[in-house]
Amino acid sequence: MSDIKFIPCKTLKEKPSDESKLGFGKLFTDYMFTMRYNSEKGWYDPTIEPYGPFSLSPATSALHYGQAIFEGAKAYKDAQGNTRLFRIKENIARMNRSAARLCMPALPEDLVYEALLELLKIEEAWIPKSEGTSLYIRPTYVATEEALGVHAAKNYLFYIILSPSGAYYAQGMKPVKIYVEDSYVRAVIGGIGFAKAAGNYAASILAGELAEKKGYTQVLWLDGQMHKYIEEVGAMNMFFVIDGEIITPPLLGSILPGITRDSILTLAADLGYKVSEKRLSIDEVMEAGRSGALQEAFGTGTAAVVSPVGELYYNGEVIEINKGEIGPIAQKLYDTLTSIQLGKHEDVHGWSIVL
Ligand SMILES: *Cc1c(COP(=O)(O)O)cnc(C)c1O
Repeated sequence: MSDIKFIPCKTLKEKPSDESKLGFGKLFTDYMFTMRYNSEKGWYDPTIEPYGPFSLSPATSALHYGQAIFEGAKAYKDAQGNTRLFRIKENIARMNRSAARLCMPALPEDLVYEALLELLKIEEAWIPKSEGTSLYIRPTYVATEEALGVHAAKNYLFYIILSPSGAYYAQGMKPVKIYVEDSYVRAVIGGIGFAKAAGNYAASILAGELAEKKGYTQVLWLDGQMHKYIEEVGAMNMFFVIDGEIITPPLLGSILPGITRDSILTLAADLGYKVSEKRLSIDEVMEAGRSGALQEAFGTGTAAVVSPVGELYYNGEVIEINKGEIGPIAQKLYDTLTSIQLGKHEDVHGWSIVL
């Protein structure tokens, strides 16, 4: 704490009065954490300061060559009014794995953790209280060297911003329709697919827009080489329940190693389900859909926790999953994980942190 400078706001913003109208990612709190790096000094000036715009050179390297990564996590209030976080140190560790792949210097993980707790303490009043709402945490890390030319930058900026967010399932959990993309790809093995790198999302936007025009909420990506194996959806990992077995693709480098994915794999095994990480082709999934062996499909990620899939479109064919209804396994895993996150259920893995 001693090393983190504090610059107070002159005036504070008005906090939103209606938590049902928060939406996602539009409102930001009074303060942010910032910290800078240069190749001579290392990390310096860790500061909690008023949220506001940065002044950046038009030659800022991240804007040209894309050394830009981020994380996503949530802080929430439990029934007792305590602030809770979930497996947050794993987000910081994952950010350093993203950084290593993009040739960015490692973040001081203990300092980042300490800074986040300090920032949350200051901004506690911004954490919404209604069921399902949260304070979304967005750590961001970008190259800021003022120079053209493709090489690892010498200067960087790391920051954390906070955004009060509405309940993901404000209208209740509802299965989504997914478009299986067979020509565009998101990432390839050997690329940066496992990193939460800005460029991965830029690569995904076009297919997302096209799918949306056809009435689908999200794109399901296939592998970049053969366009055959299931990868993941927009910002969620995918799970399929086929003949009683819960299956998710393995981490081979092209998909994001979701913390929710890992939690669901662990909980499903704890609950006695048969779980496996294995490559699953779209043809197998469609065949299982036709034969009735495909019982459920769902995505997992910090935002939705679990998002059931009610319909898949692939290559001119539509399959309905579980009659378009929420499946019992998706519901059970959602209930179990959210109960652990809110301290309502025994947390044998020590995932939930009370501030
Ligand atoms: C963030 C993200 C996920 C989910 O990760 P969590 O740690 O569970 O939130 C999955 N896929 C992609 C592409 C993502 O960006």
